[in-house]
Amino acid sequence: MRKLTIDLNNVAHNLDTMRKLVNSTGKQVKIMGVVKADAYGHGMLQVARKIEAEGVDYIGVADLAEAQTLRSAGIKTRILAWLHDPQDDFASAIKHEIDVAVSSQEQLLRVKKAASSAGTPAQIHIKVDTGLSRNGVTIDELEDLLIETKAAVEEGLVETVGIFSHLSSTGVKEDLAQIERFELALDMAAKLGVEFELRHLTASDGTLSYPQAHYDMIRAGIALYGLSPFSDNRAAEFGLKPVMTAEATVVQTKRVQAGEGVSYGYLYRTPKETTLALVPVGYAEGLPRNASGKAEVCINNKFYKILSRIAMDQFVVDVGDASISPGDRVVIFGEGGPSADDLATAADTINYEIVTRIGSRFNREFIG
Ligand SMILES: *Cc1c(COP(=O)(O)O)cnc(C)c1O
Repeated sequence: MRKLTIDLNNVAHNLDTMRKLVNSTGKQVKIMGVVKADAYGHGMLQVARKIEAEGVDYIGVADLAEAQTLRSAGIKTRILAWLHDPQDDFASAIKHEIDVAVSSQEQLLRVKKAASSAGTPAQIHIKVDTGLSRNGVTIDELEDLLIETKAAVEEGLVETVGIFSHLSSTGVKEDLAQIERFELALDMAAKLGVEFELRHLTASDGTLSYPQAHYDMIRAGIALYGLSPFSDNRAAEFGLKPVMTAEATVVQTKRVQAGEGVSYGYLYRTPKETTLALVPVGYAEGLPRNASGKAEVCINNKFYKILSRIAMDQFVVDVGDASISPGDRVVIFGEGGPSADDLATAADTINYEIVTRIGSRFNREFIG
């Protein structure tokens, strides 16, 4: 009834595209594939296994629970987790060889404790807030954190694998200011004698926009899934191929007279005698309710706007006099239909939100 096709060969293609892009100047820049939030709705384990097989250098997740799930499933690639609860168990992270981001003195203290109880040094990446004002230590507090970190290294409790930050993608001026602050952070670390194997700053957008800021590693999330990090539907220009296709089958069709109200609130009334097709996908599947009246779907190679209200489980399309019958294929977005970007525009959001919020009632089929 509802099918989500995930083309893992396209994930491999996108990884390769990003790899070629960052290594085009002859530099050896590592790639972290970001698989947080169930790989942006694409299936965390399947994507992680694919990129591991393709030789990705690092895997990135938001929290430790995601990292543990990957380790439990047998993923061996280096993993970094960066968003921690004050109760998170760093000892377990150390035991499972999960790198942790350290954003504050308090986190460093907890990591040190965990390392001494585990009897193994923690692998850490210092997270610097260069201007997103989210996670990370501010530049003002960085020096103290670096001094404490150096002491922890000397005690054998931590190993400083990386130092990193994240851009706000507000505009070129703002991003360049952040890059400058990141440079300050690197200088500060160098002066204090704290060494890092990996300096990393850019996610997909920064990687495509600022070749000067690739440093030792880039973190690719949305690009891995074949979507543009910019709100302009330009993924194909970068050589990226979308991975997810959401489709369903028409479950009922009916002829109705002119003037019939359709779906909740009668946003739409039939202007003439026509055929209505019922599709079993609603906002529970991640088709945003506020895309009602704006989003298009593709049935038998023809695009139709969803003019009536999208409900929880279903929506109705006026297909006029087209010969459409139950069982016909409806592409919500992806291969052979509108793009995730088109749907995002209709719903006044970004492609990230469309794929990440895809519902659990789709049957997932993996290619590759
Ligand atoms: C989510 C995330 C990424 C990946 O971002 P994309 O825009 O999807 O490439 C990279 N770094 C951090 C810190 C993130 O939270």
